Amino acid sequence: MCGIVGYVGDGICKQFILDGLARLEYRGYDSAGIVCIDPKHNHFVFQKEAGGVSLVKKLGETARFDGHIGMGHTRWATHGIVDQKNAHPHFNCDNTVAVVHNGVIENYEALRKELLEKNHHFYSATDTEVIAHIASDLYDSTGSLDGMCTALVKKLHGAYALVLMLEKEPTNLVALRHRSPLVLAQHDSSVYVASDLSAFSDKASSACFMPDDSFAILSKNSVKLFDFEGKPLIPMFEPIDKKYIEIDKGGFEHYMLKEIYEQKRAITRTIYFCRLIGSKNGQYTDSLVDSFKHSEVNDEYSDQIWRHLGLSKDQVKRLKNVVLLAAGTSWHAARIAQFFFEMVAKIPCQVSLASEFRYMPFFPKDDTAYIFISQSGETADTLEALRLVNSFELPTVAITNVASSTMVREAGGFLPMQAGPEISVASTKAFSTQMATLYWLAHRIALERNTISWNDMHEAEEDLFVAAEILETVIENYKIKIINELAPKYAQYERFIFLGRHINYPFALEASLKLKEISYIFSQCYPAGELKHGPIALIDDKTPVVLFSILDDVLYWKIIANAQEVKARKGHLIIFAFEGQHELIDLADTLFIIPRVKPLLAPMAMTGLMQFFVYHITRVLDRPIDRPRNLAKSVTVE
Ligand code: GLU
Repeated sequence: MCGIVGYVGDGICKQFILDGLARLEYRGYDSAGIVCIDPKHNHFVFQKEAGGVSLVKKLGETARFDGHIGMGHTRWATHGIVDQKNAHPHFNCDNTVAVVHNGVIENYEALRKELLEKNHHFYSATDTEVIAHIASDLYDSTGSLDGMCTALVKKLHGAYALVLMLEKEPTNLVALRHRSPLVLAQHDSSVYVASDLSAFSDKASSACFMPDDSFAILSKNSVKLFDFEGKPLIPMFEPIDKKYIEIDKGGFEHYMLKEIYEQKRAITRTIYFCRLIGSKNGQYTDSLVDSFKHSEVNDEYSDQIWRHLGLSKDQVKRLKNVVLLAAGTSWHAARIAQFFFEMVAKIPCQVSLASEFRYMPFFPKDDTAYIFISQSGETADTLEALRLVNSFELPTVAITNVASSTMVREAGGFLPMQAGPEISVASTKAFSTQMATLYWLAHRIALERNTISWNDMHEAEEDLFVAAEILETVIENYKIKIINELAPKYAQYERFIFLGRHINYPFALEASLKLKEISYIFSQCYPAGELKHGPIALIDDKTPVVLFSILDDVLYWKIIANAQEVKARKGHLIIFAFEGQHELIDLADTLFIIPRVKPLLAPMAMTGLMQFFVYHITRVLDRPIDRPRNLAKSVTVE
């Protein structure tokens, strides 16, 4: 899931590459590197640095060269440890071919063996390095860049976005993609290439997403695109969505905190957007989304909404199943949404982890809607699951935060969340807007099938606005207490248990993930009813138990029973309860009380406070909150 940036033109490239890498650091920050061709001698000059936060800044200070052609890379290691040697760019034996790579070369061991037999020498332990050696041999044998590319792609198995530079071709950059994304842009005499358009969205006004299985030869005034057989293609340039220009922390200490506080607006905009999507022939603008009001909603937009989702009205009416596919936090949102589809739309819903789904037996059903959920729309496993389902020509819908993403382009239809750019690696507002989008969609499907009325639909939207409001205001009620008292206290513990039932079990999973991914405190989550089947052995006074209550008359009493089981073993209970739940409130060692919302929106109402609590525990521990170790924002490798 590395980030790639390249430049060729009349201008100088170093600053552009460094700025681009800083914007792509969300894709990985294990190491970074830059290479240019020195304009005087036509030789490579390069610099690589290993490790962590402010990596690109460090690179900027050490790389004392520039050129009119160059490329950079920020790495999330898959093969080979995180060190300077394994940082990209990688080179062939005599340092005349350089490559940067996003993806995994699955057959690299066999290729490496072949190359060793031909007396090639390796410098790194990465899968990537084989590409530089093979490209070098192929350029020598074919004598041309397109000959090199068509032969190279036949040798590589796996997923890759590559940019290559050759000293023998000092005016050309070569870009190739198979399954991993690459986007091109052109402005005056400059040509840019990057993993994601945020790298150059302030430099160019339109961009071309390279089609899968294509390569491009880029020089200062030209973009030549080919398919993998070497047949020329016409590059299609589209206007760039300026929303994805780098944003700052807006006065907050971390992006995560800023994004926690952006959730109310993000959810509200998401609902406006969902209403708007079919109403004006799909012509929506930011200000239109913000100004769209409830009173404008009517039956007219029915057809358009389904067209946007790539479904027909008839298909929606006949739906027998919904399958949700996702990974990580998006999978938690999907598990929560299972209750929306089953309880509101009354449609059986199956939720799968994309990484598991891909390798399980698949029983295609055409009366099923397959919905793929990913913040970035680039998550490798989810994308591959989408491709698998697409190959059976079944209805597929992408729900992502990035309208220009690969998933949106490849799915039959899409519903974009309106979270705005999420920079912090730990997801906050993407999670809550995923819940909001799926809650809205489940109701909209129910409406189409006459399971609910227009009035119920409007009420569901109002309930979402209320839950979004509570998500934010409840933070204020506990802000001072968390910062001054609770965060310093709980930062001392080495492990936590999280418990929830029913719709709040996946929410508890998300809370547990949030704590471990940013604070590195070990945490384990169980369905509360499973406690007595084993995990109860872990209860002691050194392991706080975080318990999430529920708005359900039957399950509420079950949650109380679980709380009592913990208390009876002298456990320490942190309880998120709803107003009026006195029996549970009385059992808490630490208590958070949340105003009541619609029962299915209980997770959304608790989301802000849970994230804020975890954020401050992590802050006390002085961890790099926005860039936790070993992680990357967008998981574009399997
Ligand atoms: N496989 C390459 C490496 O480990 C690239 C990894 C990636 O794209 O995340 O360096």
